[in-house]
Amino acid sequence: MHRVMIHPASYDSCRQSVDKAFELFPQDIAGKKVVIKPNVLRMSAAEEHIVTHPSLLRAVVEKVEHLSPAEIVVGDNPGLFSYGDNENSFKKTGLMTAAKGYYRNLGNTSQKRAFHPDFMPEVGVSKEILDADILISLPKFKTHGLTIMTGAIKNSYGILPGAQKARLHQIAGTPARFHELIVEVFRLRVPDLFIMDAVVGMEGNGPASPDLREIGLILAADNGVAMDGVVARMMGLDPAQLRFLQKAKALGLGEFDSQTVQTEGQLTILKDFKLPPLGGEAIFDNPTVQELMTSKSQIRPQADPALCTACGACIDHCPVSALSMMDAVPVADADLCIRCFCCQEICLEKAITLR
Ligand code: SF4
Ligand code: SF4
Repeated sequence: MHRVMIHPASYDSCRQSVDKAFELFPQDIAGKKVVIKPNVLRMSAAEEHIVTHPSLLRAVVEKVEHLSPAEIVVGDNPGLFSYGDNENSFKKTGLMTAAKGYYRNLGNTSQKRAFHPDFMPEVGVSKEILDADILISLPKFKTHGLTIMTGAIKNSYGILPGAQKARLHQIAGTPARFHELIVEVFRLRVPDLFIMDAVVGMEGNGPASPDLREIGLILAADNGVAMDGVVARMMGLDPAQLRFLQKAKALGLGEFDSQTVQTEGQLTILKDFKLPPLGGEAIFDNPTVQELMTSKSQIRPQADPALCTACGACIDHCPVSALSMMDAVPVADADLCIRCFCCQEICLEKAITLR
């Protein structure tokens, strides 16, 4: 039976939730190398809630410091194309200060690991992650246009440094394959403990949406599949319909059924929670919807001329050069676009939605 903690919290009081998490899921930290990995999607202000909040990171760092002498490392590989801005992403979000001097650039060293041949025969994984005795993942409660939700499993996509994340996006090609891909990355090094920032979550057009949701919770678990199952329920979804959870369960990485997951705390379904613009259909085992989803003519990113500043960042970062500027607004070529949603992630103006 898995357990998932659901604990009331504010950013001022999240240390209490962290204490509770370590009480429920004790870690033998003395003398170990402990790597703490927040979700650092890209450079942004903490108040945008695109990344794990610095208050939670600080609380976890101080808890580990308090428990026992340990070698602490804090790091992540920010989103697809911000890997060159690793340090600045931590600084701008406030996570650098919260890391209390333990920050390391996880993009600096990597080691090859055999990978699923359907995607790539091998991938580079941040060496600090592979060297960790204890890996603590700090996901953020958010929606995601491609995976519907981003939580414990998706946070591990950041163990891959450099441009290979973009390459893998391209190779995956369809939402269904991307769901499978993130599980393959997750199992390269399954974290030992997950503590999720759900104090302020994100709904709507995630993972960088302006639609924030006051939830007032910190979640914790020692199994990412169980945690994501609980998050899915809170979002009003049936976890059994999420392809990445189906895959994770089939691989023996954990369970998400309510009979096999005990919640420590109140699981409340968030009323009228807004899923990504696709309405979440990508997840459902419905042949008609799947057909629609894989038809390139049906979905593509669209820039809002009222928000777009024509900076060109999305065009520079599209892995398949599907975007070009027309009348000072980027337009996607439907035949080329692989719906990786990197353009949506990279746009600082939040000008891109999926239509
Ligand atoms: S990154 Fe955003 S603001 Fe810049 S060109 Fe693209 S859509 Fe416009
Ligand atoms: S246009 Fe956007 S969603 Fe399409 S392939 Fe390029 S970056 Fe990905």
